[in-house]
Order: sequence, then C-alpha cells, then structure tokens
Amino acid sequence: MQKAKPTGAGDGGADRSTADSYIVALDQGTTSCRAVLVDSHGALIGMAQQEFAQHYPQPGWVEHDPLEILALQRAMFGRVLEQHGVPVSAVAAVGIANQRETTVVWDRHSGQPVHPAIVWQDRRTAPLCESLRKQGLEDLIRERTGLVVDAYFSATKIRWLLDNVPGLRARAGNGDLLFGTIDTWLIWNLTGGRVHATDVSNASRTMLYDIDKQRWDPELLQALKIPEALLPEVRDSAGNFGEMIYDGISIPITGVAGDQQAALFGHAAFERGMGKSTYGTGCFILMNTGDRPVVSRSGLLTTMAWRLNGRPCYALEGSVFIGGAAIQWLRDGLKIIQTAAESQALAECAGDAGEDVVVVPAFAGLGAPYWDMYARGAIFGLTLDTGREQIVRATLRSLAFQVRDVLDAMAADSGINLKTLRVDGGAAANDYLMQFQADQLDVPVERPAVIETTAMGAAGLAGLAAGFWDLKTWSALQSTERVFHPAGDAAVRHSRYQCWQKAVQRSAGWSK
Ligand code: ADP
Repeated sequence: MQKAKPTGAGDGGADRSTADSYIVALDQGTTSCRAVLVDSHGALIGMAQQEFAQHYPQPGWVEHDPLEILALQRAMFGRVLEQHGVPVSAVAAVGIANQRETTVVWDRHSGQPVHPAIVWQDRRTAPLCESLRKQGLEDLIRERTGLVVDAYFSATKIRWLLDNVPGLRARAGNGDLLFGTIDTWLIWNLTGGRVHATDVSNASRTMLYDIDKQRWDPELLQALKIPEALLPEVRDSAGNFGEMIYDGISIPITGVAGDQQAALFGHAAFERGMGKSTYGTGCFILMNTGDRPVVSRSGLLTTMAWRLNGRPCYALEGSVFIGGAAIQWLRDGLKIIQTAAESQALAECAGDAGEDVVVVPAFAGLGAPYWDMYARGAIFGLTLDTGREQIVRATLRSLAFQVRDVLDAMAADSGINLKTLRVDGGAAANDYLMQFQADQLDVPVERPAVIETTAMGAAGLAGLAAGFWDLKTWSALQSTERVFHPAGDAAVRHSRYQCWQKAVQRSAGWSK
C-alpha cells in the first residue's frame, strides 16, 4: 500500500515537507456533505458539496441513511480533488467536522447499520427524557455531562434503539454492535473498520460523558442501561484517528470535532473569553471558557470545545431558535422584502422614526436565558409612521438582542468578560446587523474572510496534528474581512436593550 507524504506529525510549525501537500476537511452537516480542500498555508482552495435525503417516518422523527452519508462523503472527497487536479497522494491529512449527537448503531462484523441514523432533531425520545427527569437524574446529568436532559443528545437515542429494534439488546450484550456519532461512523468505515473512536467534543454531546473526569460515566451508563462495549474510545481532537484508505492510498485522519466546536476552532477562538456566533436559521453561540468547565445557572450547556495534547478546553454553548428565520419570515410570511440581503438597505434608511419599535421573534417560544415555550412573537411600539423599514430594522435588531441575551448569560455564569465575537453564517453578511451587534455587546465583532469556518476548523485541527502549523500560526493565517467596532452613545444602546427586555416580558407566556 502506498503512503501519503510524511507529515512531520507533532512538531508544530509549518514544515517544508508540507509545502506541496494538502488537507481535506470532511464537513458532514445535517443536510449536506462537503469536502473542503485546504493548502499548507491554510488557504481554502475549493469545495465540493451535495445534499442528501432527510427522512421523516413519523411526526417528530428525523432519520438519515448512514450508508448514503458515507458514500456521499467519500464521493465529495474524490470530487474536490478532481476539481483541482490534486492527486490523492498529495493529501497529507484528513479532518472531520460533523453534525453532532446524531446516532448510528451498526454490526461490527458486517458493518451494516441496524437502523437508520436518528438525527439530533428527532424528538421520539422526549418521553424517555421525561422519565429520566422523574427518576431525579437531572442534576446528576448536568453535573457530569454539562447538559440538560433533552432528546437532542445521543444517550436516549441509543437506549431507544436497544429497546425497540428486535434482538438488539442481546447483540449488544454479545459485543456485536458499535455505536457512534457521525464522526465515529465515518472514521470506522474510512479506516476499514480498524478504528472505533471519537473526539472529546463529540463525546461531550452524548449525555454519557463525564466532561470533568473525561471518561464515559459508569453511573449514567447504568441508569440508561447502555453497555460500555458499544462506545468508542475518546481521543484528543487533534491526533491519530487511523488511516483512511482511498484508491489504495492511506491518508491519516488527524482532526475531529463536532460542527459548532469545529467552527470555534476555525475562528481561532483559542483564548478564554473569545466567542463565536453563527447566524443561520437559528444562531449558535459558543464562548471559550478555558481549561475548567463552567456550570451554567441560566440553562446554557457546558461542553468540551476540544482537547489538545491531553489538555481540555471547555466552552459554554447557547442557541437562539429564530435567527435568520425571522428574516425569512419578513420575506416569505409578511412579504415585505424580496431577498434577505435587502433587509440591510431598508434598515439603514429607517431613519429616526420608530426607534422604539421592537420585534420579538418568539415564534417557537424563547430559549436561553428565558426558557419560555409559551412566549409568542410580537411587535411593540407601532405608530402611524411605522413602515416596513422600521419593522425590518427591528427584526434585524432582534437577532442581535437575542445573541446578547445569551452572551450576557454566559458572562454572568462564568464571570468571564467577552473579549471579541467572531461571526459566520448567512446573516453575518449583513453589515447593519453586525454593527448593531457590536454596539450591543460593546466588543468588536470580527467577520472572517473565509466563512466556511466549520470545515476550516476541521482542517485546522487536522493540520495541527500533521505539523502544518501550530495554534499561533493557524491563528495568524485566519484573515479578517471586517471588524465592527462598538460605536454610538452608550446610554442610547443601553436604553434600546432595556426596551427589548420590556418587550420580551410582555410576550411571555402568551400562548398559555
Ligand atoms: P443555515 O445553515 O441554517 O441554513 P445559513 O448560514 O445558510 O443558514 O444562513 C441562512 C439564513 O441567513 C437565512 O435564514 C436567511 O434569512 C439569513 N440571511 C442570509 N443573508 C442575509 C442577509 N444579508 N441579511 C440578513 N439575513 C440573511
């Protein structure tokens, strides 16, 4: 078998042997598989992407076909190399970023999944979560895993499979089955079944991993009746995950992280107090809290960002249910804009009128720090001179207010002041929103030149272990497209936020 180029693993800093070699990051998302080609200077050379099927067998159920994902991910790897005329032998290392929590169980002998993958969005185990709460396990789960009891996480999905697929429990007892999140499923298959492993960031989303002791938690495994033999070995996020075999050539897999943590790494948010917000359909916010886990009192999640050379880095995580979706609502629901991008120009010409119009986009209740599933959307402060410009501006502002709510809760929980916010996602393209965000947070908001931060994070981790760069060089390689500095009168910014909080209070419990 042919070997890919030597990689100078572990010696840090860019090295001559990597000059004409590349990293491929596999970015396995909820709706698509991507492969991203990155050169030895950390520059993104190209990307191949394809969507795959979503299956909704019952209301609230969401499934993926693990074999389809695997085949597509391999195909994207081949396609991106072909598009840029790069031979497989020039790929020095592979990184993986993946949709988190999605659960696959397969037969270790045949390699066949025993059931479709149960996707993170799937709600079928909500009753099981309720019974865990009734058993009084909530505090233990939070203390050990940093998570709230929820159907999102893998633990109850594994349990559901063991309870509902005929014969599975016996097969699990015989050691015939393996569990993995999507990273583990890909690693096991790409290495020809040689490596059954995950990284700490993915392990910390299973609701079975003790993030302090960094081991599978025996008490939780027992409470959930999950045999430990199913579970993968948990490794550093940058390091050895075995050799992927492609066209008879073996390429080391050297970086793995769940998508949100990969994005934090892609943003080079390596210091305590650095945060990132992804402005997609919802907003996903992570703040690096350094080498100790911070327990949240606001219902945020404590999670592992990554572990490098045995040294863990932790993060607080929060999300906003309705982010860019509110802009979609302006376009598709209210039909007062034609494109999402148009919202910027309209907000910029809204003028002095309607400064205290507030839109609360609580279309699906409110998450952290309010946790009110009965809250509903509302518009406050309408007068006869309120037009679509003012409503569009207020809707954009609502994204920034919600992100501030989460970041303020993180600061209160951790005692760490946010230093800088790095941004990505579709709505991060909106200059009005980014400036307003900086004003509200009173810290600089930095928008990177390359917005594929999730894939770049996986490439960054893989290149770290492969000796392409160290943390400092990686950080220096990330260029910022624009920095939004806080501006304007502090008293005005403050009173706008108070106005938002007042509006949130008034929309509370509406549908009860
Ligand atoms: P996802 O990954 O969740 O599909 P994306 O990162 O692709 O989301 O971002 C899409 C979202 O961003 C949509 O909800 C859209 O309304 C919003 N969006 C895109 N461009 C802009 C813009 N210029 N201003 C405001 N919102 C935008």
